[in-house]
Amino acid sequence: MTSVGSDLRRELLRQHSIKVIRHGQTPEGAYLAAPSFPTYRYSWFRDGSFIADAMDANGLHDSAAAFHQWVVNVLESELASVSASGGVLHTRYLPDGTHGSEEWPNFQLDGFGTWLWAYAGHVARTGHAPDSRGIAVVRGLADHLAERWSRPNFDCWEEHQREVHPSTLGALYAGFVAAAGLLGDRYYEGVADSVRSYLLEHGTHAGDGDRHFTKHIGSDAVDANLLWLALPYGVVGVSDPVYLATVDKVRRDLQDPGGGVHRYAQDTYYGGGSWLLLTADLAQVHLALGQRHEAERLLAWVEAQADPNGDMPEQVATHVNDPDYVPHWEKTWGASAKPLLWSHAAYLRLVAALASQ
Ligand code: BGC
Repeated sequence: MTSVGSDLRRELLRQHSIKVIRHGQTPEGAYLAAPSFPTYRYSWFRDGSFIADAMDANGLHDSAAAFHQWVVNVLESELASVSASGGVLHTRYLPDGTHGSEEWPNFQLDGFGTWLWAYAGHVARTGHAPDSRGIAVVRGLADHLAERWSRPNFDCWEEHQREVHPSTLGALYAGFVAAAGLLGDRYYEGVADSVRSYLLEHGTHAGDGDRHFTKHIGSDAVDANLLWLALPYGVVGVSDPVYLATVDKVRRDLQDPGGGVHRYAQDTYYGGGSWLLLTADLAQVHLALGQRHEAERLLAWVEAQADPNGDMPEQVATHVNDPDYVPHWEKTWGASAKPLLWSHAAYLRLVAALASQ
């Protein structure tokens, strides 16, 4: 394809991604993770926060604002009921703010940290400061998280509840930094510092090679979710040596020759294929390191996974960790989710980052 042809395809995919996200946003403001995949017809704060950030990065602030207002509405009543009942905040919601009837692994803290980060980013980009309800929710949520941040909880893949996950700590760190800024209250900076110190002290492993961040505390493996520690969570810079060693290990252990990135080596969900959003997020790291050529190569890989309509799946099964699990999951939940709004969001965030450099 000529460069004019690929520029045009990129712009069409960008427009299509915006359309997919708008289509998946309900009148209440919630983003459904994947409207055509029954198990994902819910809104997760984790997915939604990255999606809102993608819309902000592409100038679509109305969509991001509607999502953040929806979160404020949901959390206002959730925080009140959790403080009355002593339960945990749910991780996914129906558009009316209710929970749905299936059992779900709800004690996951990362999405709340990621939401605070995305909300502060939205406020900084638009200059629209939170109203008194927004402020009360940010404070209530930050206090809720400050009491719980070091407890083991399900990771961003909704697994391994008995572990403490550096990636989740990174989300919480970013959330406390955001809360400190939104509230003008240094108390939350102190909490952020404690989270960061704990993560740097316990969340790494040296083994025979260079020290790197780990999938969970006490593990020697990596998970591609560690890429977020620098971008966007800002726990360390992209040039930090421990981070660079982590990126190298993610590339060695989790990246296919074509570019696609797996979540972690033992992943068997739909066989444990290559995830578009992780590949786009690795491209962001390359871009920040000045490796534009590699960022473009990964962008092209993500684009090549879109179907003829432009729809992007959660993952592709070209290289899988365990092929036996592909039919198992297809029988359980149907074909892997497509379009996944978070995949489109990661694509949009990357395209915006490339355009701004
Ligand atoms: C992923 C979560 C995600 C959810 C909805 C799960 O399979 O592990 O990270 O929030 O799907 O997209």
